[in-house]
Amino acid sequence: MTFAQLGTGVSKGIAIGPVHILYRDELEIPEYALPEKFIPDEQTRYSAAIILARKQLHDILEQIPSNTPADIAEFIDTHLLMLNDSALAKVPLQIIAKHQCNAEWALKIQRDALVRVFDEMEDPYLRTRRDDVDHVVNTIQRVLLNSPVHHGASPAQEHPHSGHILVTDDLSPADTVLMQHQGIAAFVTECGGPTSHTAILARSLGIPAIVGLHKARERLHDDETIILDGLQGWVLANPDERSLQHYHQKRRQERQHYLESIKNKDLPAVTQDGHTIKLMANIELPADIPAIHEIGAQGIGLYRTEFLFMNRTSPPDEEEQFKTYKGVIDKLDGKLLTIRTIDLGADKQVDGSSHQTSAVTTNPALGLRAVRLCLKEPELFLPQIRAILRVSAYGPVRILLPMLSNINELKLILELIKDVKTELSAQDIPYDKDIAIGGMIEVPAAAIKARMFLEHLDFLSIGTNDLIQYTLAIDRIDEEVNYLYDPLNPAVLQLISLSVEAGKLLDKPVGMCGEMAADPRFTRILLGLGLTEFSMHARNLPAIKQVINDSQLSVLSDLTREIMQTTNYEEFLTRLNRFQYA
Ligand code: PEP
Ligand code: MG
Repeated sequence: MTFAQLGTGVSKGIAIGPVHILYRDELEIPEYALPEKFIPDEQTRYSAAIILARKQLHDILEQIPSNTPADIAEFIDTHLLMLNDSALAKVPLQIIAKHQCNAEWALKIQRDALVRVFDEMEDPYLRTRRDDVDHVVNTIQRVLLNSPVHHGASPAQEHPHSGHILVTDDLSPADTVLMQHQGIAAFVTECGGPTSHTAILARSLGIPAIVGLHKARERLHDDETIILDGLQGWVLANPDERSLQHYHQKRRQERQHYLESIKNKDLPAVTQDGHTIKLMANIELPADIPAIHEIGAQGIGLYRTEFLFMNRTSPPDEEEQFKTYKGVIDKLDGKLLTIRTIDLGADKQVDGSSHQTSAVTTNPALGLRAVRLCLKEPELFLPQIRAILRVSAYGPVRILLPMLSNINELKLILELIKDVKTELSAQDIPYDKDIAIGGMIEVPAAAIKARMFLEHLDFLSIGTNDLIQYTLAIDRIDEEVNYLYDPLNPAVLQLISLSVEAGKLLDKPVGMCGEMAADPRFTRILLGLGLTEFSMHARNLPAIKQVINDSQLSVLSDLTREIMQTTNYEEFLTRLNRFQYA
């Protein structure tokens, strides 16, 4: 029998395919047979992964502050010992040869055997050591998943779940990137909210996705075909032939619609009464660039560089970052590139950092994140600043600082940037000496005092995903409280207004790069609040442009002023409602 289930659609698109159920912390392990001639290469790949995993643990050990409790260092020592043990260092090599299989599969076979032994142990303490086995095995698997495959296996062999719809409890942003490499057609998670980084990434990668579909793994089964609508947020299990045909057709129409919408790419965004609005794009990965040109974005308003730091054992060095950012600017044909310095922490963790916040902090979103982490770990921040500055010699580049909440912190960050500039000048390395440095308004404290922050900066960009989270005290990745996540909450609008006004007073640009800027339902009120720069995923740009081109700014400004002056909540809602149709 056909039946439908509802979650929250976070990335539009229709997907039709077989289900693949994945359990938490379970990595997507490719399993494939290898011709005999590739066995030595595969064994070398495995041994190299062990060496890299060891290096990673040693790096962490070295970065542990001296006052850290001894048991934490011992914990890592235990993992290092395990990595050196022949059960993990040697036996998988034999399995590769015996089963003629890939390294990841061999390690999985060995892991299952080890775990069985631990599970049978009487001693509860020893039984818990199986978690250590899993931790170490996962470290090696992650290295393997990112290490090049030297033999001639075809992508289809490497990724047995290509074309499947992944159903799982939750996905980290790092897993989402891996998933795209593995050709997953769409995903469903039981947890998560629409402004989580996982959801943002799905939109950027163009993967249809649904979050918050409770008990999805109980209701759906491996390999059954389902239809998923990422806009409406439902999946149809066990569809009949007519439904399948209908949704195949709908998928073709969606593609057609997209092709139609990009025909207007060269039209400027100008209101009916002649006000020009700047429309830029957000990117996470260099692979997002072609869409920028396809859709006619005027530049990049937000490049989330932290994705370059994920799914790897150590952070990219200055040279790798330079090459990556240069690759982006070279493809932009002179358009502006706004590079945001790493916003790691909270739900975006990096394996190479010594501060794995979510594991140890109760409130990672309030913890060591973004510029706070950069100040704590200058060795993570300074190579990035050097790389960005060097790239600024090749095209228009701006630096954007995330999560500002404290003026002193901002001043320290600006001092560090100044020092790097002095260093580059002394080394005769070219860079844009007048590079614009902006800050993100994501914390209410920064919005309330936007003017004070802007005095030290060249521009502001409002990050509504976090601003709403922090203003309304709603975890953006918690689907249980997602119904309260309201961009039109009067307090949120007030903070946006304060930020825009600060820009007007100091005659400096203020844009918005949070998801609110990408939703056509909110475009009119944002215009009314005086916003003149929007940055969003390229796919949303045509719809936003359409609303702008149909709008009369003077009318919107008057209506917004009235709304912002309203003190009674019911009246506020009535006016807001009227406003939507202005
Ligand atoms: C935001 O918070 O709105 C934003 C753009 O940053 P991110 O979504 O990466 O936290
Ligand atoms: Mg943010």
